[in-house]
Amino acid sequence: MKPFPRALAAVILLVAISAFASDQTPTVDWDTVAKIREEGLQRSEVMDIVGYMTDVLGARLTLSEDMKRAQAWAKDKMEKLGLTNVVVEPFMDYGAAWDNEYFSLHMLEPDYQPMVGFPLAHTAGTKGKVVCPAVIASDIQTKKDLDRYRGKLKGAAVLITPPFTLDMAALTQGVARRTPEEMKQMEEAVVPTPQRPATPPPPLNPDLLKPEEKLEFFRAEGAAVVLQCESGMPGAVRGFARPGTKDDKWSREKTLGTLPIVAVTPEHYNRMYRILKRNIPVKIEAEVRNRVGEKVEKAANVVGEFPGTDLADEVVMVGAHFDSWHASPGASDDAAGCAVALEAVRILKAIGVKPRRTIRLAFWGGEEQGLHGSREYVNAHFGNPKDPKAGIKPEYEKFSSYFNQDYGAGQFRGIYLQGNERVRRLFAAWMEPFRDFGLTTISIQSVGSTDHVSFDAAGLPGFQFIQDRIGGTAGHTNMDFFDTLRAEDLMKNAVVEAAFVYHAAMADQRIPRKQLK
Ligand SMILES: [Zn+2]
Repeated sequence: MKPFPRALAAVILLVAISAFASDQTPTVDWDTVAKIREEGLQRSEVMDIVGYMTDVLGARLTLSEDMKRAQAWAKDKMEKLGLTNVVVEPFMDYGAAWDNEYFSLHMLEPDYQPMVGFPLAHTAGTKGKVVCPAVIASDIQTKKDLDRYRGKLKGAAVLITPPFTLDMAALTQGVARRTPEEMKQMEEAVVPTPQRPATPPPPLNPDLLKPEEKLEFFRAEGAAVVLQCESGMPGAVRGFARPGTKDDKWSREKTLGTLPIVAVTPEHYNRMYRILKRNIPVKIEAEVRNRVGEKVEKAANVVGEFPGTDLADEVVMVGAHFDSWHASPGASDDAAGCAVALEAVRILKAIGVKPRRTIRLAFWGGEEQGLHGSREYVNAHFGNPKDPKAGIKPEYEKFSSYFNQDYGAGQFRGIYLQGNERVRRLFAAWMEPFRDFGLTTISIQSVGSTDHVSFDAAGLPGFQFIQDRIGGTAGHTNMDFFDTLRAEDLMKNAVVEAAFVYHAAMADQRIPRKQLK
């Protein structure tokens, strides 16, 4: 290849950049960034915040008493920070509150062993301690399969999933940060990734039983407790809500009328399973006590504001989901994201900035069950042109952007543009002061599974950062505790988030929007 004159290359680059130019010339306020860095790196409170959330408050299942207590703390914390209009804002009828109060599981025969497990959310408890034989029924697929088990499950602990192969690599190798090749791949993607697979999944075999139909069979047969394993991670229990909860809206009657379902750690589950396969009886003892609310209640988000000045009616939002599953405090998923967002706003308060637009901090509820909190919030406050029920509110035009952290607790390495080419130059400029953090990658890709999607789906600019995977491996298990977090990563994230929110709040114009498809 012939050598290319540098000056010419520069001109071509400039032309190329201006062809892609967004509507505003990005400015970086280096003085304020310096203050943000100083406050966020030398006087950080992020680990204290996330430590309180995870150690003292604990798990935060949407619409549990635990979550209500945590939300009251969050409201108080935001008020103490000097935020205004702080509210615990209900967003939809969510069902009856559910909390686990006590759990124990033991193998009694052929050998004693305490077992690690956790009851699924919105299941019933046992009536005191139950001692029962374990029975494998993990091969039930269709109605015909049920016949083999009729009359054989009364008073039994039913093992309903096959044994789970352990992923030993996760234990022995740890999790690598993103490689330069991976970062390059993301950067070089030229079109946004579709958020849903292009080909719909094949239609289900109509004879296949739904999980809730199988459970109904076990209940009708008089089983005492259901045991399952959905984790291949050593030592980990992975368990969500009882199947069917979405349709029955977490009703008290359905919850109390179901069986206790316990997710068991793979080593312990597999051991029982292998013994039974040798035709040697296994006896277990279980006790589950859950508290179920008396009435249907609304789930809520917690929202507070740092009021703007000359553009106070325009809004820049930052946040994360405050709810977790119930087997651990959800340190990386997503107490970390909430702590980072809170710390970002704290930093801006501490250095005394006067934002032009209002900065609004949100701790969402109901994310784990389907982004409910953020979606209902967007519908109620901004509207959604694609949803006739939501309509378009006057605030829709006044909205600037939303920033989110929910891909674990690893540090920010860049940002996904969510298909919005018009923000590329803006974000590139805002990332410039953080090259030393390794915040260098801009990807046109669209990503899903968390709350920025609720904004994006309504045509509002909502963004998720590209994150290292450190600390994010324990999500949705009983092992997502404070110990998975790295202070350095979260401190940097709060600094970056503060700078993004600050620049978005100060820019001459709101963040440009992409065309709504
Ligand atoms: Zn999450």
